[in-house]
Amino acid sequence: MKRIAIVGGGISGLSAAFALERSRKDDAPLEYVLYESSSRLGGVLTTEDVDGCLIEAGPDSFLTEKPWASDLCREIGLGDQLIGSNDTDRKTYILVKGRLVVIPDGLMFMVPTKIIPAVLSPLFSARTKLRMAREWFHPPRKAESDESVASMVERHYGAEMVERLADPLLSGVYGGEADQLSVRAVLPRFAEMEAKYGSLGRAMLAARGKMARARKGPARPLFTSLKDGMQQMVDVLLSRLPASALRTNAPVLSIQPQAGGWMVSAGHGSDQFDAVVLATPAQAAASLLRVANAQLASELQAIQYTSSITINLGYDQSVRSLLPPGFGFLVPRTEGRRILAATFVHNKFPHRAPDDRALIRCFVGGAGNEHVLELADDELLRIARDELRQIIGLTAEPLFTRVYRWKDAMAQYGVGHLERLQRIENLLAGLSGLALAGNGYRGIGVPDCIRSGSDAATKLLAKLGLADEKLPTTA
Ligand SMILES: Cc1cc2nc3c(=O)[nH]c(=O)nc-3n(C[C@H](O)[C@H](O)[C@H](O)COP(=O)(O)OP(=O)(O)OC[C@H]3O[C@@H](n4cnc5c(N)ncnc54)[C@H](O)[C@@H]3O)c2cc1C
Repeated sequence: MKRIAIVGGGISGLSAAFALERSRKDDAPLEYVLYESSSRLGGVLTTEDVDGCLIEAGPDSFLTEKPWASDLCREIGLGDQLIGSNDTDRKTYILVKGRLVVIPDGLMFMVPTKIIPAVLSPLFSARTKLRMAREWFHPPRKAESDESVASMVERHYGAEMVERLADPLLSGVYGGEADQLSVRAVLPRFAEMEAKYGSLGRAMLAARGKMARARKGPARPLFTSLKDGMQQMVDVLLSRLPASALRTNAPVLSIQPQAGGWMVSAGHGSDQFDAVVLATPAQAAASLLRVANAQLASELQAIQYTSSITINLGYDQSVRSLLPPGFGFLVPRTEGRRILAATFVHNKFPHRAPDDRALIRCFVGGAGNEHVLELADDELLRIARDELRQIIGLTAEPLFTRVYRWKDAMAQYGVGHLERLQRIENLLAGLSGLALAGNGYRGIGVPDCIRSGSDAATKLLAKLGLADEKLPTTA
C-alpha cells in the first residue's frame, strides 16, 4: 500500500485528491490524507446565499477557453449546472478622469482588432490611435529575455494603453501591476504572437479567424460558472472523497524526507508517507521545505503574493436601472481611487440575484495596497459606497453587505517567473516523491489550479509505479 499526503485543501489540493481517488477506485493499492489548516475545505472558493442572492467571496467564474474546470465539473456530474456569462450584455467600462468610458468593441484583452470602434472611442487619445495604426506594421521580434507586460504593451501601443487598459485589466485578474508582471508567464501568447507576426493586432485577428473556422456550433461565453455558485464544485468534489481522508484544522508544520519517503508533521502527530503534494500558496510551501532544501525554499519564497478584499452590496431592484448596462467597470491606478473594479453581478450571470435585487461586488487591495486589510469592515464599506456614489451616482442604502478578506492569495508572476520555475523543477528533481500544485506556478485561475493538482497527483502516481505518466513534468 502506497501512501500520499496532500497539504492544502483549496481547489488545487482537492483536485489532486480527486485524481488519487479515481486511481484508488480503479484498485490502485493507495491511501491518501489531505491536510487543511483551516476549518473548511475549498480555499478561496466560497459562496454565500444572502437574501436570495448568491455571493461569491472569491472567484465568481472561470475562463471558458481553459477546459480543466468544466471537464472536472462534467466528470463529477455537474455538467448540467454549468452556466455561461450573459455575453449579449457584455460591456465593461474604464474610469477615465472620473467618467466611465466603455471598452470599445473588438478589443481582445488589450489588443484592438477592429479599427473603427477603436478610432471612435474616447478611451484613447489621438496619439494612441496613431500608435494602434502603426502597430499593424510592427516587425516580428523574438525577444531574448523576459520583460514586463507594461514594457511589451508600451512598445506596441504606448504608455496610455498600459495605464488605461493593461494595468487595470491585470489588477482585476492578478491584483498586480503591469510593470511587475512577466509577459512570458502572464500573457505567453503575446510573446509568441510578437515573434511570429510582429503586430499583436494582426496576430489576434489571425488567431480569431482560425478559432472561428475550427469552432463547431455557436460562440461560447467568455466566462463559465455554476448555477449555485463556485462552491458547488467544492461541495460535490467533497461528496466524492472519503471523509476519513480529509483532515481540517490540521496545519502541516513540517515535511522532512525520511527513509525513501516523507515524514509529515501536523499538529498532534507525525505520519510517514511515500510521497507528498504541496498544494499550498508558494510561500507556505517554502516554509515547509526550509529544512529539506533551503535553496528550493528560497526560490518558492521569492514568488510574491498580493492580498485582495471583495466588498459585496445587495440593493433592491430600483438600483438596476441606475447602473450603466454591462458587467461593471475597472479603475486605473491614476484615477486615485481605492476601488480597483466593480462587477454588476446580476448582469454578469443568470441565477445570481432574484429580479427584485441588484448585487454589486467591489474589489480593493492589490499590489502596494496591503494596508487596506487592516481597515475595519465599516470603513471598507464607507469607502466602497463613497466611491460608487462618486463614480456612478449610487446613493441608495444597501439591504445587506458582506466583506471578505483574502490575505496573500493572489500569486504575482514577476519578470523571470518561468526561469524560476525551471530552477524549481531542477531542485525538485533531487527530492523524490514531492510535487507542487497551486496558483503560484503555471496559472492563477481556477482551471489552471485544477490542472496543477491533477498533474501533481498523476506525476506522483507514476513515480510510485501506480500509473503511466502521460503528462509533461511541471512544477
Ligand atoms: C478574490 C479572488 C477572486 C478571484 N477570482 C477568480 C475568478 O473569477 N476566476 C478564476 O479563475 N480565478 C479567480 N481567482 C483565483 C483563484 O480562485 C485561485 O488562484 C485558486 O482558487 C487558488 O486555489 P489553491 O487551491 O491553489 O489555493 P487556495 O485556495 O489559497 O488554497 C490553499 C489552501 O492551503 C491551505 N494551507 C496553507 N498552508 C497550509 C499548511 N501549512 N497546512 C495545511 N494547509 C495549508 C490554506 O488554508 C488554503 O485552504 C480569484 C482569487 C481571489 C482571491
